[in-house]
Amino acid sequence: MAHVISDDCIMCGACQDTCPMSAITEGDGKMVIDADTCIDCGACEEGCPVGAISAE
Ligand code: SF4
Repeated sequence: MAHVISDDCIMCGACQDTCPMSAITEGDGKMVIDADTCIDCGACEEGCPVGAISAE
């Protein structure tokens, strides 16, 4: 299980700083969460201005 970022992502980068695992990186057109690194804490979810992050 890991959190995922949808196509609604506007690549603002807000989530990147909230992740304690540094699991979020810039992908192709949207930010991407590394499923193997994510510990499912949910910290990134609240910080997203467009609600693009959710539990898988
Ligand atoms: Fe990082 Fe937690 Fe979001 Fe996973 S759920 S990407 S560990 S902030």
